[in-house]
Amino acid sequence: MPRVFSGIQPTGEPHIGNYFGAMRNYVRLGEEFGKNSIYCVVDLHAITNPASFEPALLAQRTFEMAVANFAVGLDPSRVTFFVQSHVPEHQELSWIFTTLTPVGELERMTQYKDKSEQLESVPAGLLMYPALMAADILLYKADTVPVGEDQTQHIELTREIARKFNHAFGETFPEPRAVYNKQALRIPGVDGNGKMGKSKGESSTIGILEPLDAIWQKLRVAPTDPARVRRTDPGNPDVCLIFDYHKLFSGLDTIQTVDAGCRTAGIGCIDCKKTLLAGMTEHLSPIHERAEALKADPDFVRDALAQGAKEARAVARPIMEEVREKVGFLKL
Ligand code: ATP
Ligand code: MG
Repeated sequence: MPRVFSGIQPTGEPHIGNYFGAMRNYVRLGEEFGKNSIYCVVDLHAITNPASFEPALLAQRTFEMAVANFAVGLDPSRVTFFVQSHVPEHQELSWIFTTLTPVGELERMTQYKDKSEQLESVPAGLLMYPALMAADILLYKADTVPVGEDQTQHIELTREIARKFNHAFGETFPEPRAVYNKQALRIPGVDGNGKMGKSKGESSTIGILEPLDAIWQKLRVAPTDPARVRRTDPGNPDVCLIFDYHKLFSGLDTIQTVDAGCRTAGIGCIDCKKTLLAGMTEHLSPIHERAEALKADPDFVRDALAQGAKEARAVARPIMEEVREKVGFLKL
């Protein structure tokens, strides 16, 4: 049976890019593979980027990331769901992997380049991120990794690390494969500034738990086709991020209507955005309700995370034992 692993960073509010790009696949694969689908709030990764790490907020963001995942339909009693720092084996395996990973490869990672460019002083942990990510996945011998397209390079490096380990110490790890949601490979940020990302701040994101009036304030000022200057100008939905969002939230009829309306100047951008908000309201309102119920019962969330960490460790421990033995550490 395949084993699924994926992680999500508590670097801010989960957004519709995380939801459509990754979290919906967590739910789908969770229904199929039960406890063999292992999901993790990766707080050790979240502390690697000083641009988004805020110690006073980390615990709350970690808790809320769990709430968001449960609210979109992950059932912690049916899958394995936990917090990375609660399973110390992640760090142990990660260290071993850093010894198999050339620094040059790490420096080539585009996420590293993008994030380190914004920093005056770059922590070594940010560079090591992909070695920790390889450890996250391989600690469970997972072969299936639901992620957005931005993780392709990291998964490729994970495969390479698995190959290197197997070559050096004997066949141990599978070479994992990414699973994408083809409709949501890379959702653009609502500020029109590249990929939607938590660490880019709230101007980039539409939070899945964000109040709908706050979402509307962002949609209202979001850029559309720059060539459509006046209401009477025809527009091109293919270059409009609002249309990208319609494809996620609106029914086929609405998508066709706004597509044709935009091209013929039959619909203005504000009305098009209002139609989008209606679709978002329909999708997100039930998620908001479930999240409120979960927040009102923090003990349920904490107990689920404690149980999840136990389950994850039960899988990780024997694999880590095997690794220690193969690497050649003295056993007492
Ligand atoms: P950060 O900016 O801190 O890196 P992020 O928004 O990129 O945060 P991550 O926690 O790094 O979110 O990623 C969680 C999952 O969501 C990953 O599988 C990632 O590939 C996916 N993902 C992130 N952003 C997008 C996006 N804009 N479109 C599709 N998938 C995305
Ligand atoms: Mg990211």
